[in-house]
Amino acid sequence: MPTTRTTDLHTGGCLCGTVRFSVSGEPTGGNHCHCGMCRKDSGSGVSTFVTFPTATLKWDGKPAEFESSPNRFRGFCPKCGSSLTWRHGDYNDFLDFRLGSFDDPTPFKAKKHLWMSTALPSFAEIDPDIEHIDQSS
Ligand SMILES: [Zn+2]
Ligand SMILES: [Zn+2]
Repeated sequence: MPTTRTTDLHTGGCLCGTVRFSVSGEPTGGNHCHCGMCRKDSGSGVSTFVTFPTATLKWDGKPAEFESSPNRFRGFCPKCGSSLTWRHGDYNDFLDFRLGSFDDPTPFKAKKHLWMSTALPSFAEIDPDIEHIDQSS
């Protein structure tokens, strides 16, 4: 039986606690990104994001942002440097959060592998049961 979790509050933040956030409801998407910029940003072989509408988003402390390509912004803690978010400047109704920034990431699932064209097979566990996309969605 499917469970409805629409009132669930999800909290998260950076490593040092300077930036905290909360969002409610269900994520509208989730992906493992294998692009080279996420590798540089995270220092890891693959980056996992979950997408939430910004309607319920509350910040306690604001991330700094880096424009990693035109109109694409990566949010991070200005004190400890934790990478937190990714957004496209034209779609401000949604924000991608790094999975690991949530206090409890266990409810979330990725639905796609993005940028398979640049994936590192030896560092990326590819889930055969979800969609594979050569570049972004
Ligand atoms: Zn921090
Ligand atoms: Zn990426």
